[in-house]
Parts: sequence; C-alpha cells; structure tokens
Amino acid sequence: MIGLDSSLVWLRRDLRLHDQAALYRALKSSSRVHVVFVFDTAILDSLPSRADRRVEFIHGSVVALKRELEALGATLHVLHGPAPKRLPEFARDRKVQAVFCSRDYEPAAIRRDAAVAQALAGMGIAFHAGKDQVVFEQDEVLTQGGKPYTVFTPYKNAWLKKLGPFYLKPYPVQAYLGALAQSPPATMPTLAEIGFARTNLAELGIRPGEAGARGLFEDFLARINNYKQARDFPAVRGPSYLSVHLRFGTISIRELASTALGIGGAGAEAWLAELIWREFYQQLLWHHPRVAAGHCYQSEFEAIAWPNPPGHFQAWCEARTGYPLVDAALRQLNQTGYLHNRLRMVAASFLVKDLLVDWRLGEGYFADKLIDFDLASNSGGWQWAASVGCDAQPWFRIFNPVTQSEKFDPEGKFIRRYLPELAQVPGKHIHAPWTMPEKLQAACGVKIGRDYPAPIVAHGIQREKALALYKAARGGPPPADE
Ligand SMILES: Cc1cc2nc3c(=O)[nH]c(=O)nc-3n(C[C@H](O)[C@H](O)[C@H](O)COP(=O)(O)OP(=O)(O)OC[C@H]3O[C@@H](n4cnc5c(N)ncnc54)[C@H](O)[C@@H]3O)c2cc1C
Repeated sequence: MIGLDSSLVWLRRDLRLHDQAALYRALKSSSRVHVVFVFDTAILDSLPSRADRRVEFIHGSVVALKRELEALGATLHVLHGPAPKRLPEFARDRKVQAVFCSRDYEPAAIRRDAAVAQALAGMGIAFHAGKDQVVFEQDEVLTQGGKPYTVFTPYKNAWLKKLGPFYLKPYPVQAYLGALAQSPPATMPTLAEIGFARTNLAELGIRPGEAGARGLFEDFLARINNYKQARDFPAVRGPSYLSVHLRFGTISIRELASTALGIGGAGAEAWLAELIWREFYQQLLWHHPRVAAGHCYQSEFEAIAWPNPPGHFQAWCEARTGYPLVDAALRQLNQTGYLHNRLRMVAASFLVKDLLVDWRLGEGYFADKLIDFDLASNSGGWQWAASVGCDAQPWFRIFNPVTQSEKFDPEGKFIRRYLPELAQVPGKHIHAPWTMPEKLQAACGVKIGRDYPAPIVAHGIQREKALALYKAARGGPPPADE
C-alpha cells in the first residue's frame, strides 16, 4: 500500500479531519490524496421528509470540512447521486489507485460497500475499509469461547480489560497533511439542490461539524463529574448531547474514551459505560443483523400478537396520550429530533406495554425522527424496552408512567417546558392532571378532555394485558427465580 501515487478518501460517518483513521491511512500511503463526500440518493430518497435535521446537519458538517480543507490548499469534492455509481466514476476520472474509507457495520452499508468495491476492482482500483467509529470492532471483544457477548456487563468488563493506550492513540493526521491533493475549491450543491429544506437546527443551537462537537464536549467536561447523578433527570443538563456527533463522526470515539478514562471517577466511568453500550449494540448488529430487520433477539416473543388498538400509535406520535411525561417526551422528539435517554425508555415502554402497540412501529418512528438515529442503538434500545432483546429489561418489569414522572421530573419542569398548556397545573397534579378536581381545573385554566387529553388508557389495566401477552408468548408465567 505504501508508495501510491494518488488515492481518494471517501468520507461517510467520519466527517472530521482530526484523529481521522481513513484520512491518516490514505495520507500516509499516497503522494496525492483527494477527499470526497457523496450525498447518496439511495439514502436521501428513502427519507420520509424533505426537511430532515440529519441532512442539514451533514450538509453543514460537509461545508465546514470543505472550508478547512480549502484553508490547506486542498478541497472537498461533494458528489450527488447513487454512491455505487458516482464514487467509482470519480475515482476513475481522477486516476486514483486506491479508495480509503472507515468501515460501516450496518447491513445496507455493507451491501453498498461491496458494490463499490466490486465496481472499483473492475477498474483496477483498490478499496480499503478500516476501523474508525468504534474502539473495538465486532470480533475484537469475544468470550473465552470465541463467541460474541450477549450480556452487557461481561462485555463491558472484557472491553475494559482489553483496552490499552494502543487502542486510544489518535491518528496523527496533521503531520501528513502535505499529501493532500492541492486543488482550487470545488463546487458544492446547496441543501436545496440536493432536494432538502432548512429545519430548525440553528434555532435549536445545534452546531454541525467538528467545532459543534468540540463546543459540546468542552461544556460536558465541566459537568462530567455529575453525570452519574444528573443523567436521569431530563429537566437538567446532565448528558453530553454528543450523540449526533458520534453518529456522523464529527468527533473521534478514541478522543472521547481516552478523555473519560483520564478523568476517572464515578461520573466519567458511568459515561464511558454508555460509550461501551454503543459498541455492545454495534457488535450485536454485526453478529445478528436480523435484530435490526424487525426480528426479536428472543425469538419466542415473535409470537406476540400485538393488539395495536386503533388510534393509539397516532396519539403517541402526536403527544396526545394524556400522560404528561410521555407527551412531553414526544414533543421533545418532534420539535428537536433529540430525546433524553430516560424518556426514550419511558416513551418506548409506554407505547409497547401500556398502549400494546408493536415495538417495531415505535422503532420506525424514532428512526424517522431522531437526529442521532443509529440502527444498532435504536434497535437495541427498542428491543431492550420491549423486553424482546438481548440483555433486555425483563418482560414482567413495566414502568409506571406516573411514578417515572414523579421520580425523574419531580417538579414537573420538563413537562411544563414541553407542555405549556399544563404550566399552571400545581405540582401535586402535574404527573397525573386528570386527578385534578373540576374546580381546580377551572382555576388553573386546564379542562381535562378539552385543553389537555384525558389518559387514553388506564395504566393498571394495560399492565395486566401486557403481562398476559408476554406470558402467552412464552407459554407460561415467569419462572420462580425471575
Ligand atoms: C428506545 C431507545 C432508542 C434509542 N435510539 C438511539 C439512536 O437511534 N441513536 C443513539 O445514538 N442512541 C440511541 N439510544 C441510546 C441513548 O438514548 C442515546 O444515545 C442518548 O440519549 C444520546 O444522548 P447523549 O449523547 O446526550 O448521551 P450521553 O448520556 O452523553 O452518552 C454518551 C454517548 O453514549 C452513547 N450511548 C448512551 N446511552 C446509550 C445506550 N443506551 N445505548 C447505546 N449507546 C448509548 C451515545 O453514543 C451517546 O451519545 C436509544 C435508547 C433507547 C432506550
């Protein structure tokens, strides 16, 4: 590989220059490196809306990267079309000898990369995909018997045991930037030219690119010691909000993990554990791709006949369930594309175990709406909440949406932020406003059923129905030790 005359780096989920594995590999082995991003119509055409925060985020990150490269006398070539066609054509026109990229573990990406590699091979161009977006790939952390882990804690222990400075060493891209192909600035399509409209990203303060990631990370480092206590309370600025940056690689996982490790203590350790959950689900998806194709990891639960009562899924999507914490969660998701982890769990559990709606519908809704949508984590999270996954919440454990609300939003701050119609409801009733006497409803200007919905189901009754569904699928009650 050493001594190539020219090569190309194809950026995908690694939209940064710092500690960039594919770029480093290309720069180190070639005299002239072109950098390319493709707005892949196969992906864009499948998106449900033409105003998609992810596309705007990517577009903004690509613009930022292009500027950085242009400051170095190089450029970023931004293509638009089907990647398996456009990328090889470009590689052929530039007469490169090799294409470098970071490995993507999603089934559709694996198929796309195979098609690209095949087209390139036909032109005599090599295709090199390497690790970048995870610390450990699918086969690097295995059980003693050489099998993939299916339980998180032993996976985490093995992950931590294997970790050494080698795995977290940054790729010293800066030292090799002289090998970037010098070029006048290339033209780049606008968001409108690729068929998309602006969303409310700027209004939300979501800054794309490396600069956006760095700003968030610095802000989080000042709070990381409190992460363990603060992370469960959606009204508090507890988590890092870095998920969209991790999704599109505007910050390096090695940098995040090594910083957390260096800080140490309960907060940083708890946060590192979340980064390990991300890799746990990535390796799970690789070894069991059926989980992200709508199949339960615990296959006995495939037998559940979800009642999907008419109107329930729609009410959940539109934040009209009458349970304030659930409705506030769906409003946060719909308005911002982000949803606090505690609320992802509460909202998912409520859809499945209170509304008795097939978890796959919720999984699909999150996939459409989340700015940080990640196939592995989303399917892992949904299968966890629906108790059908690998190392999932036990099926007989059912969140009570009112007690979750009392515990994690005790003053109703988060609820009032997203449900301003409940702003005047006293703290005593904010978690279950239907318990307000009529007189109080009138006094605080909220008539249940008119200004805010009455609960569409009764938790106690639905809980029993859900248990019956799981029991029937398993063919009996829980064993005595559960
Ligand atoms: C039903 C459901 C669906 C989910 N869908 C997604 C998804 O599509 N994309 C996604 O990135 N995360 C998903 N998660 C995991 C988690 O909710 C988000 O990663 C987290 O809320 C992102 O916020 P943050 O960056 O502030 O997290 P932090 O708490 O700051 O965590 C740091 C990072 O660790 C990773 N992480 C944290 N928690 C988890 C977790 N439980 N599983 C896997 N990785 C985790 C994320 O990359 C996150 O950015 C889902 C969880 C559930 C319960």
